[in-house]
Amino acid sequence: MKIQWKYSIILMGLLINQILSESSNMTVFTHATIYGHPTADAILCEDGKIKEIGQAADYTGYPTVDLRGGTVYPGFIDAHMHLLGLGGSKEILDLVGTKSVETIMKMVESTTKTLPPGTWIQGRGWDQNDWEVQEYPTKEMLDKVAPNHPVFLRRIDGHAAWTNSTALELASITKHSNNPEGGMILRHTDGSPSGILIDNALDIVGEIVPKDSKETKTRQILRAVKYLNTLGITAIHDAGTEFETIQILKELIQKESLPIRVYSMLEDKEKTLFVLLKDGPTKGDFLNISAIKLYFDGAMGSRGAALLEPYSDDKENTGLLMEESDEIAAKVKSYNAAGFQVCIHAIGDRANRLALDIFEKVGNPRMRNRIEHAQNIHPDDVPRFSELGVIPAMQPTHCTSDMYWITERIGEDRLNEAYPWKSLINAGSPVPGGSDAPIEIPNPLHGIYAAVTRQDTTGWPEDGWQSQECVSLDEAINMYTEWAAFGAGQEELQGRIEPGYYADFTVVSHPFEEANPKSILDAEVLFTIINGKVVFKK
Ligand SMILES: [Zn+2]
Repeated sequence: MKIQWKYSIILMGLLINQILSESSNMTVFTHATIYGHPTADAILCEDGKIKEIGQAADYTGYPTVDLRGGTVYPGFIDAHMHLLGLGGSKEILDLVGTKSVETIMKMVESTTKTLPPGTWIQGRGWDQNDWEVQEYPTKEMLDKVAPNHPVFLRRIDGHAAWTNSTALELASITKHSNNPEGGMILRHTDGSPSGILIDNALDIVGEIVPKDSKETKTRQILRAVKYLNTLGITAIHDAGTEFETIQILKELIQKESLPIRVYSMLEDKEKTLFVLLKDGPTKGDFLNISAIKLYFDGAMGSRGAALLEPYSDDKENTGLLMEESDEIAAKVKSYNAAGFQVCIHAIGDRANRLALDIFEKVGNPRMRNRIEHAQNIHPDDVPRFSELGVIPAMQPTHCTSDMYWITERIGEDRLNEAYPWKSLINAGSPVPGGSDAPIEIPNPLHGIYAAVTRQDTTGWPEDGWQSQECVSLDEAINMYTEWAAFGAGQEELQGRIEPGYYADFTVVSHPFEEANPKSILDAEVLFTIINGKVVFKK
């Protein structure tokens, strides 16, 4: 009798324990090395947040996930990417890494055979700098292989497009068309359009391409998220979120099927802002809408970045401003007043200086305004970022993709201006790191490696490109964790493994070693954990 009682009490105890642990949603992650906690081997989580970091032996009786000896980093955050664009890029011609015009012509030709005439053929990712003949291609090349399909192929940076005659005709772009403001229609010597459209001229064709349905977009977003989870990414900052994407994300969150946290920089379009601005920022755990993205200049590859001095390989050209300073200033003022952070795309040193001037004059420093890319910065402007509380959000792999040709664009004397992460950090700026996917592959390990080495994955150049700007391993990790969280005003919830923070972890096969940067590239993502739940497992 006595023994039975004892058993029932034990059983009851176990049952209560189980009910407690189920209702309070506790999980222990064990068998791991934990970044920043050298003596711990386990993390106890409750309701999606970290409760304690310690020893597995102290956390018995809870549901347990064995992390197979992996190393736990705070969940990696990609601080600048295009979620829908990334998903969409998986469903159009992928031209990244194509080595010649002929390769692309063949890809387009074979696509024409699978689509009825009149259907748009779209692609993205070509880069004339990767070709033997580093010149812009022409519409005639595409006409040869696709006479009956409109073709619209965006350059790798999205700031130029290659089109054929059918597409130009549908968009009514002729010899007599004027360049739109902030854009350029490249022309043959007789004045007829060559087939290449730069910056705002892209939209003339972009606007007549049939729009994707909501179902298509939902599928593309889920495809992108699943892919990001395999890379260990637990949160992203979406640059230029459109209205429908916000609706899709909200629906996915309601169905508990969005395994990533999204910090949204809304696109600067009337329809998007009209609905979302008046409510002020929304700070949900999975969707935080607190920022608006503006475009100041173009990109370096298409010579659209606004420079203080002309391009070294185009002496008449100092780039393009897509919007006037006054207009940008008026927007900064009103969006900040409405409680939104403003994130300005600025690549050239002139665009960066003007953006800083605007933030200095009318920005509210408490909003932690950002400059997206902050790619070329005049040395005089480097300290202004921290002085004004403006955050430079940068993409390390842009440097290692562009370093082969950037000297042609800006010349030897300005190379010290390019991608100056370390100078900004030394001047006191937190630097959020991102990929700008689909422009670059959104693998955070590639980003961390590029930030540390300024080398490509083969180890070129030997000492790193402009190696004075290499950062330490911890700084590189900060770029994808703490500083990315800071850039979104979420540093008290995200980016660290500490009690009270989100239980978001990236678990890799071995710790990164400062002395052996290849160890970063070699690491395998074993688990991606978001809100205390495993969303990817190798
Ligand atoms: Zn971008």
